[in-house]
Amino acid sequence: MTTAYITHPECAKHDVGDEHPEAPERLSAINDALISLRIMDFLQCHDARPAERSALALAHSEAHIKRVYDKSPLMGLRQLDPDTFMNPHSLAAALLGVGAVMQAVDLVMAGKVKNAFCSVRPPGHHAERDKAMGFCIFNNIAIGALHALEHHGLKKIAIVDFDVHHGNGTENIFLHDDRVLFCSTFQSPLYPDTFADSEPGHIVNVALEPGTKGDLFRQQVRERILPELDAFEPEFIFISAGFDAHKQDPLAHLSLLEDDYRWITHQLLDVAEKHAGRRVVSALEGGYNLEALATSVCAHVGCLAGLHHAG
Ligand SMILES: [Zn+2]
Repeated sequence: MTTAYITHPECAKHDVGDEHPEAPERLSAINDALISLRIMDFLQCHDARPAERSALALAHSEAHIKRVYDKSPLMGLRQLDPDTFMNPHSLAAALLGVGAVMQAVDLVMAGKVKNAFCSVRPPGHHAERDKAMGFCIFNNIAIGALHALEHHGLKKIAIVDFDVHHGNGTENIFLHDDRVLFCSTFQSPLYPDTFADSEPGHIVNVALEPGTKGDLFRQQVRERILPELDAFEPEFIFISAGFDAHKQDPLAHLSLLEDDYRWITHQLLDVAEKHAGRRVVSALEGGYNLEALATSVCAHVGCLAGLHHAG
């Protein structure tokens, strides 16, 4: 049983300008590194299939979906939020991002692969039920999780988000849905500054001060997230895999290294082994230093594929 790697060349055509950090080169950097480190040899590669418009309604309001379709430009750029833009290819890329995660769920549930990594963009975890936000158009991971709940009959799912930014969109979508345990580690203060102290029990927010290194990150995950996952006994684990908490990342000030990504991946695989029949789907969120992104994804995916021991 292998690891699926799901991506699509069209995801690189979502290009909103040279100044924007969420750049097409992110995907080619990941792809090139997986090839040069010979990790790709062990992956089962799939072209993402686009999601149907109807699947978006699992997580989003009709008003948001219609707004995105209406704004999709024939030429030039249109703006959805202060940081989120669309070019003529963005809608297709966003549908491939959602479709990749749904396809990953289908492959894992059919027992065709043990787990999957979706190398897609635009990312998704800031997209709320009713709005695009922070480079995100549709919430890829939330739609994938709801696909597993609604179409594969699962009852309990965990989403772990280790992007350096709070996964406000995912929290917003599942705030009143306790079938999903949502755990997010993030730097605070930092965009989007959305987390509150009084969340329901199925929302676990772990705020980390600027400068936090791997040892404290691991301690917080060990003390505050792993016990919650163990008690919840999820049937499936989703990972919002952002790599912008890396020391080299230009958008934030945490100091994680590749070994920390290897470590948390290994911890989540252990939980999946114990409770979830090893079912794990991971999808790319942030990560803006191309070199650190590529090496961190290699650490993460190598671990998913069983090629590394814990760091
Ligand atoms: Zn981020």
